[in-house]
Amino acid sequence: MWINIKHYDTMQDINLEQIWNKVKEIVFSNLETQTLDLWVSPIAIKEVKDGNVILSLPNKYFSDWLIANNYLAKIKEVLDIELKNSVEIEFEYIQDIKDINKEQRQKVEFEYMPEKIFVLKEIFNPEYTFENFITDESNRFAKAVCETAAKQPGSAYNPIFIYAPVGLGKTHLLHAVGNKMLELSKKFRIAYITADRFVNEYIQSLQNNKIDSFRSKFQNAIALLLDDVQFLIGKEKSQEEFFHIFNILFDNKKQIIITSDRKPQELKGIEERLISRFEWGVIADIGRPSLELRLAILKHKTQRQRVYVPDDVLRYIAENITENIRRLEGALIKIIAVSITENIPLTIDNVKDMLKDVIEPKPQPVDIQKIIDVVAEEFKLSKTELLSKKRSDALALPRQVGMYLAKVMTDLSYAEIAENFKRKDHTTSYHAYLKIKNLISSNPYYAQLINKMIEKIRSR
Ligand code: ADP
Ligand code: MG
Repeated sequence: MWINIKHYDTMQDINLEQIWNKVKEIVFSNLETQTLDLWVSPIAIKEVKDGNVILSLPNKYFSDWLIANNYLAKIKEVLDIELKNSVEIEFEYIQDIKDINKEQRQKVEFEYMPEKIFVLKEIFNPEYTFENFITDESNRFAKAVCETAAKQPGSAYNPIFIYAPVGLGKTHLLHAVGNKMLELSKKFRIAYITADRFVNEYIQSLQNNKIDSFRSKFQNAIALLLDDVQFLIGKEKSQEEFFHIFNILFDNKKQIIITSDRKPQELKGIEERLISRFEWGVIADIGRPSLELRLAILKHKTQRQRVYVPDDVLRYIAENITENIRRLEGALIKIIAVSITENIPLTIDNVKDMLKDVIEPKPQPVDIQKIIDVVAEEFKLSKTELLSKKRSDALALPRQVGMYLAKVMTDLSYAEIAENFKRKDHTTSYHAYLKIKNLISSNPYYAQLINKMIEKIRSR
């Protein structure tokens, strides 16, 4: 389809299909074919009108998917360039799903970010708000300090350092801070940037002789939100630059929030003086989400989307995806989309089938004899020696490793494990478990050794 755009300098024909192809090429290039077919191929640009790009999508799940995966900002970036204009994106849904979507058209507002507001090419995901951040013991503190910081930047908690493994809400919290600050005043300049981007932009600014403008962008911000600081590891020059920016902002009582995938002390390869800055303020971790939290997040999502998913299905997902909330949400979005597009009811059996690529079958408990065999082999002992009454150090460690492996790889109780290793009572196996667990977390050599043994046992 060829259309005219009025506000172009010169009247010019643009080919919407070509532009959308460009978007696909740049934004979705690393998706697998299956995902592309399911999520991307049904989307098209319907119209470009008054600087607004209207995307046509089958239903609201497709826009949710775009938003949930942070694609919207990237799409906008490409469209801005292609259309030589700062565009707004609107959605138009083809299917009218009654209880889900009342309005045919939902406008996604980019207006709250007029160009002058400095947001290093990132926009804050409108779904990543404090209201949408569900808490339990594992993440309550992290949310509370961020919320305080958003309302009173630079006063109570500064800097804030948040650490957690991937997929547990670090980026969500930073965007929530950004969204909240902009809600309080649209004039706020907020510097949100991931550390890898910081490194890239810093290098570019050096190459282009634009270091001053690079710096001034940060120095004029009311808050600096640095995501995934671990990407500064080993980047000495960038660390130096960041140190400098940090000090200026901190001295001027500007809010600083940093996220990381590990504790400050574990950021090996980051200068000591930076790490000690990180430790000046509040350190908050986000722990593993409980089953209740996982379930609550799924419920919250379905309620927001006004879609009904049976409780046992939600529970099945929450019980099987335990480590990463992004994957948890991904599973939910997938079953809803498949159910709607292919008209399949959400029964447990159907859902198991839909999620078979996502949910790995639980590892089967292992026969303890296999563990004993592998441990004896690995430490070059005979089984008789391993299970003997002798208490020499050379035998104690292998035995403890064996009992540890039995605890993590079988369903046996401490008493049963002790019995299998010919020890008198369960405190022996319990202490063995604790000892090796500590050893693994403090000594990478043992962590590696144990992992190797686990693999060997599994492959028997
Ligand atoms: P991280 O940055 O720690 O890797 P993200 O912030 O990207 O994780 O979170 C992954 C996904 O999980 C996001 O879609 C986010 O909205 C969601 N999420 C994480 N924690 C929560 C929570 N407590 N409540 C609701 N959604 C959450
Ligand atoms: Mg993140």
